[in-house]
Amino acid sequence: MLSGDDGALERVNEAGERAGLRPVLRRGGESALEPAAGGVDGALGRLVAIVHGAVADGSWAHLKACERDSCRWAFYDHSKNHSGRWCDMDVCGAREKSARAYRRRLAQHA
Ligand SMILES: [Zn+2]
Repeated sequence: MLSGDDGALERVNEAGERAGLRPVLRRGGESALEPAAGGVDGALGRLVAIVHGAVADGSWAHLKACERDSCRWAFYDHSKNHSGRWCDMDVCGAREKSARAYRRRLAQHA
């Protein structure tokens, strides 16, 4: 899901506008968004076009940020139900679960 947190959504849309993204149809039935601009604006526009394609084909929903505050690494969630929360279950998942268990034990003894 795309969100507008901290104006990120607006900045991405503005980058697409500066790039002058436009649909280009090709022989063979392919279509893509391509930037009219060159340079940095064009390069950023190509990234916006990749995001657009990922939203359209559903793969964007699998791209997430790790929920562990000290990580926040971007990862592709391969789970079928989009339930992945950490970049690596053996690293961030295990550390986060043990930290939560530790906090629960502290709360019980407070
Ligand atoms: Zn992580």
